[in-house]
Amino acid sequence: MNSVESTCSLLREHFPGDVEILQLRDLTTWQTGGPAVSATVTSSVMLADLLGLTAREGIPWFILGQGSNILASDEGCREVVIRLSGSMALTAWHRFESGWNLVIGGGVHLPSLSGAACSRGASGLEFAIGIPGTVGGAVFMNAGAYGNSVADSLKSVTVLDYRGSANTIVGEECCFGYRFSRFQKERTVITGVELSLGIDDPAVLRSEGKRILELRRKKFPLQYPNAGSVFRKPDEGIAPGKLIEDAGLKGRTVGGARVSRKHANFIINTGKATSEDIMELIDIVRESVLACSGMLLKEEIRYLGRRD
Ligand SMILES: Cc1cc2nc3c(=O)[nH]c(=O)nc-3n(C[C@H](O)[C@H](O)[C@H](O)COP(=O)(O)OP(=O)(O)OC[C@H]3O[C@@H](n4cnc5c(N)ncnc54)[C@H](O)[C@@H]3O)c2cc1C
Repeated sequence: MNSVESTCSLLREHFPGDVEILQLRDLTTWQTGGPAVSATVTSSVMLADLLGLTAREGIPWFILGQGSNILASDEGCREVVIRLSGSMALTAWHRFESGWNLVIGGGVHLPSLSGAACSRGASGLEFAIGIPGTVGGAVFMNAGAYGNSVADSLKSVTVLDYRGSANTIVGEECCFGYRFSRFQKERTVITGVELSLGIDDPAVLRSEGKRILELRRKKFPLQYPNAGSVFRKPDEGIAPGKLIEDAGLKGRTVGGARVSRKHANFIINTGKATSEDIMELIDIVRESVLACSGMLLKEEIRYLGRRD
């Protein structure tokens, strides 16, 4: 039995029906990556039990949302991939005279939430309509677009730490920055989020959502598997896409991975890319941009599994 199989059978003794071996290519938007043990968690109690068990057994874990910002190793990973579902993917909507208060599970699908907010007349999440992650992943990354980010409407975040203890952190203490939150430095699971939204005309919000989706369709190579922007904007604020284009890298290919001709900060899977291809292309882009412009690009995407 290999380590994935033995971890799977150990966890199955405690959580039968919720643990299985899956291919990471089926769980990530780049559609690459090998086998992993997946545990689908449907409540905070179950999550606390699972984290307790992994701590006792020395099993590493990784929280996976929609896998829309992840490059997963072709060999898979040792970590148990924990996915939030059931009661951890629900939203409670409360409307007051002054605005909306939303209590949202970490596993909620962000574009669906954004669409539902527009339809109910809750304003402030229109920017998120085309960001294909979960609410937990969006808070972890402080996902944003068009000058807005998740931090703007966030009141508090509830997390469970690796011992299974719950804690609520108010917005100011989340240390949000550009694609950054304190959760990137912690071993916690974002189980719930409280958002404060405004009130507006649903028709106006829906049309803004539509406008944003159209803009994104024009700008991004959405017909191919991808993980959004590969590199973070450098501190100087020059768009990585421009630096990559100026380095003559649009259309550069390694195996099945290609620097998009439509948006150079996207690497697309043209059909048969491996994570290895994508990783090699990322290294080529980083080195070429450094040589051409002196700017060192850093990845926005995150890695799961072996990297060498
Ligand atoms: C087509 C496309 C367009 C995109 N456009 C944008 C954009 O406009 N703006 C933008 O900011 N991003 C964008 N992204 C990137 C991505 O969608 C965001 O970073 C998103 O927030 C990631 O959410 P996820 O649930 O997929 O997280 P994953 O990719 O699954 O995970 C990302 C990180 O978050 C952690 N994480 C996930 N859930 C939790 C949780 N509940 N608790 C603790 N940690 C957690 C993971 O461990 C991992 O480290 C785009 C991606 C694609 C494919």
